[in-house]
Amino acid sequence: MQSEKALAIVTRGTDWSETSRITTLFTREFGKVRALAKGGRRLKSNFDVAFDLLTVCEVVFIRKASGLELLTEARMNEQFPALRKNLPALYAGYYVAELLAEGLQDYDPHPALFDAALHILRALGRTAVSSPTGEKGTETEICYTGENDGATADTVAGGEVPVGTGAEVSGIRSVEAISPLGKEAGLGNGSLLATVSAFELVWLQELGYSPRLDACATCGRERLSPTARAFFSPLAGGVLCPECGPTVADRRMVSGDALLCIRDLTERGAEAALPGGARAEVRQVLGYAVSCVLGRRPRMLTYVDAR
Ligand SMILES: [Zn+2]
Repeated sequence: MQSEKALAIVTRGTDWSETSRITTLFTREFGKVRALAKGGRRLKSNFDVAFDLLTVCEVVFIRKASGLELLTEARMNEQFPALRKNLPALYAGYYVAELLAEGLQDYDPHPALFDAALHILRALGRTAVSSPTGEKGTETEICYTGENDGATADTVAGGEVPVGTGAEVSGIRSVEAISPLGKEAGLGNGSLLATVSAFELVWLQELGYSPRLDACATCGRERLSPTARAFFSPLAGGVLCPECGPTVADRRMVSGDALLCIRDLTERGAEAALPGGARAEVRQVLGYAVSCVLGRRPRMLTYVDAR
């Protein structure tokens, strides 16, 4: 039996039996891997900490013919507990997990996407512990519990959020007690959404759907004015010239400012600005592009953009 080692982000988990758990991992070395952790639900098991959603861990697994691998070791490498203090950041983290868990095939490695995911999780973690006044620990902590004694993450996100990994992440209570928009967090609304947008663009690029912005995605005609508004179609693959645009069913007109923002986010990542004037439009365009690639609207997208 072939044993593999990998660095992984836990993106999903479901209980398998009284003591075992099936976990979906996005690994840097192999891409998405689904594995059975026997004894993974025991409180004192060796797997206990490593199965919390969004935990980064070093894993060892044995490949099985069934496609469901057998996890033999999982050691926690990094966690982001500060996300529990900021609901928008937590939702963004769940969104990252959803895109990693559902947008990719098994054993399709994308180390650049893994690195981008790690980067955004660390950025979101920083979001949650800082405030404009420099005070720390002033936010109400989101309480994770294995008991469904209040509003659970499932109910918060329409029953379908990618939760259920580890006892600590199977439910959220006191959600209503959290600052609803996280306005006191250090990373402001624009920065958080710029970070999410930059990650979406890496995700699109890694899957081969990076939107073309410099020329018509259909006929290749160069855009002469990058500040001019243009038709945009995720299905066609980017902007469209005035002649091609009307022939594409899913076209939408996008402002030059929004297209410039998307270009900046593509080139500079989360360092690029996402000014308020173009923010809503950029979020709509990228959310639509991601939805087209995924084949449905991501479940967590509504919560990420509900700000
Ligand atoms: Zn054209």
